[in-house]
Amino acid sequence: MKLTELFNQDKLSLSFEVFPPKNDTAFESVKHATEEIAALHPSFMSVTYGAGGGTSRYTLEIAKNIKERYGVPTLAHLTCVSSTKETVHEKIKQIREAGIQNVMALRGDLTPELEQSDRSKWAYRHAVDLIRDIKEMGADFCIGGACYPEIHPESTNQKEDIKYLKEKVDAGCSFLTTQMFFDNNLLYNFLYKIREAGITVPIIPGVMPITNGNQVERAVKLSGSFMPQRFKSLVDKFGTTPAAMKQAGIAYATDQIIDLFANGITNVHVYSMNKPDVAAQILSNLSDILG
Ligand code: FAD
Repeated sequence: MKLTELFNQDKLSLSFEVFPPKNDTAFESVKHATEEIAALHPSFMSVTYGAGGGTSRYTLEIAKNIKERYGVPTLAHLTCVSSTKETVHEKIKQIREAGIQNVMALRGDLTPELEQSDRSKWAYRHAVDLIRDIKEMGADFCIGGACYPEIHPESTNQKEDIKYLKEKVDAGCSFLTTQMFFDNNLLYNFLYKIREAGITVPIIPGVMPITNGNQVERAVKLSGSFMPQRFKSLVDKFGTTPAAMKQAGIAYATDQIIDLFANGITNVHVYSMNKPDVAAQILSNLSDILG
C-alpha cells in the first residue's frame, strides 16, 4: 500500500518508527521487538537506515518481515550522502523486489570525514538528488522526505530551509515527516509557513516519547529540539526514577498527540525506539480517540 492512500483518509491513526540492529548478534531481539510493535497494527511502520549505510541489509529484512507477516505497510528509509550511484541503484532495486512501495529519501548526516572531503566528487549532495534519481529510474514508489519545524541544524535561516524543502516536493516527494519536537506550537507555526510557501503535501508530525532521563540529552543533541519548561520540569522531577519517568514521558507524548489530532492532524508518527511496551501504552491511552 502506498502511504498517500492512507494520508488521504480522515481516520485518525498512529504509525511507529523502528530501527534495525547494528550487528547480527542483535538481529533476533530487534526483529522480535519490531514484530511486537507490528502486532499492534499501526497504520504503517518506518524502518530507519543506519548512518553511512552500515546496517542497510537489515533495514530491508525488517521492513519485509513486518509487511509479509503482519500486513503492516512499511516505509524503508534510504540515505545517499556517502553512497555511490551504483550502491543506491542496487538498493532501490532490492526495495522494489521486496514489494515495498514506500521510500523515505534522505541525505543522511555528515560525518567529520565527509565534511572534509571534496563535495564535487559526491554522487549525491542533498536528498533532492536522491529523489530525482529515484524518479529518473522510473521506480513507482511513494517517496517521503524529512522536514524540520525548528530548521535543519545546517541551515542559516528558515526561509532558505523551506525553499529547499519545496524543491524536494517539486522533485517528487509525496509527503514529509517531521523531526521530533516537544512544543506543538512550533509545528503549527511551521505548517503555516510551508503552506504559505506552496507546499501542500501531507505533513506527518514525528513525536518522540522520552521514557528515560538519559535519553533527553541525546535526543536534544541529535535533533536540536527546544525543550519547553513544562517538559524540563518533568525531567527534573522524574528523570532519575525510571518507572516514573517512563509514565510521565508517555503521558507527555500522549498529550502532544491528542493536541495534534484536535488541531487537524490525522496521522502522527511515533519514534517508538523499538519499545513495544511504550507503543502499546500510547495506543491504549488513545483507544477511544482512535476508535
Ligand atoms: P536535505 O534535505 O538534503 O537537507 C540537508 C540540509 O541541506 C538542510 O539544511 C537543507 O536546507 C539543505 N539543502 C537541501 N537541499 C539543498 C540544496 N539543493 N542546496 C543547498 N542546500 C540544500 N538519518 C539516517 O542516517 N537514517 C535514517 O533513517 C534517518 N531517518 C530520518 C527520518 C526523519 C523523519 C528525519 C527528520 C531525519 C532522519 N535522519 C536519518 C536524519 C537525516 O539524515 C539528517 O537530518 C540529515 O542531516 C539531513 O537529511 P535530509 O534528508 O533532511 O537532507
